[in-house]
Amino acid sequence: MAKMYWQADADTETLEGKRIAVLGYGSQGRAHALNLRDSGCDVRVGLRPGGKTWAQSTEDGWRPERPADAVGDADIVAVLVPDMAQPQIYQEAIAPKLRKGAMLLFGHGFNIHYGQIKPPAEADVTMVAPKGPGNLVRRQFEAGAGVPCLLAIHQDASGSAFARTLAYAHAIGGTRPGVIETTFKEETETDLFGEQAVLCGGVTELMAAGWETLVAAGYQPEAAYFECLHELKLIVDLIYEGGFAQMLRFVSETAKYGDLTRGPRVVDARVRETMKRILAEIQSGEFAREWIAENAGGRPKYNALLKEDLEHPVEKVGRELRERMSWLQPKAEVARIAR
Ligand code: NAD
Ligand code: MG
Repeated sequence: MAKMYWQADADTETLEGKRIAVLGYGSQGRAHALNLRDSGCDVRVGLRPGGKTWAQSTEDGWRPERPADAVGDADIVAVLVPDMAQPQIYQEAIAPKLRKGAMLLFGHGFNIHYGQIKPPAEADVTMVAPKGPGNLVRRQFEAGAGVPCLLAIHQDASGSAFARTLAYAHAIGGTRPGVIETTFKEETETDLFGEQAVLCGGVTELMAAGWETLVAAGYQPEAAYFECLHELKLIVDLIYEGGFAQMLRFVSETAKYGDLTRGPRVVDARVRETMKRILAEIQSGEFAREWIAENAGGRPKYNALLKEDLEHPVEKVGRELRERMSWLQPKAEVARIAR
């Protein structure tokens, strides 16, 4: 079993008197900064003046500084700007100002693992990667719960990198559900694979394909939406609570038989083969090179594909149906704000 850490394992004193700079105030940055502050840590927020989230951070009671100023003051620098923006902000604002003995903490291993950022040997380089979107990292923390985190140590120059990193994970709520120790390599590769094959890519494509199949066969788009998108959450909630067993307990005998005999025909040998190839592209660095080049070229493919996804007809049907679901409105608002 993976080595895991819980609340009692965290030594909160290692963060006492330590100044933490959170760079970026997006999905993760906002959640980390607010949770750390609520946990009694000494936090400052580093942002581009006039950037997208500057105003939001002041609304939340911060006095944001320019990234280089925040770094110059800090014992721990949490790098929570987008992965593709990190190498530049590292060159311009972090490397010239990083204090000797300071710790660089990432929320994802991409830039260290693929060699886009090469910190000096005297810095601690670590990671706390919550396994969930930032708005949940905040919302769960406020509710007394938390999002599980992966923790990794790339460089331990000080000898106390692990203790400080675990205390950081604790302060954002990660030790409540548990912190798993991993490596930058494992976190980066599994994270990319998960979001590509299952969580974001796989599941949306599966839902859209199911919806399109029903609509093309003449069924009502609204009925197809409830069937292929809306209900997925209810099913996933059961799996989240108690595994496949819990889901199978609550669905009908007929649903179970259909699941057991038809599921493997949908996710068949060809799909599994494709998953292996996608993983191989991640492991070889091919995906990383493609994504870095796409960014350098102004993201033409990304923008075109994103537009296509957002204009998919299921989005229109879904929007209209969700507008009637009053209980969804506050969450939609939270999601919008946390963007
Ligand atoms: P985000 O896009 O939500 O927020 C980025 C923040 O950085 C914003 O405040 C933005 O204004 C600022 N920013 C953007 N470009 C900048 C630039 N060039 N210079 C300075 N600031 C800039 O980012 P995110 O999704 O929170 O991702 C941050 C890190 O957390 C990434 O390493 C990501 O992989 C990791 N992570 C994200 C999630 C998630 O749920 N989004 C989950 C786990 C890990
Ligand atoms: Mg998709």
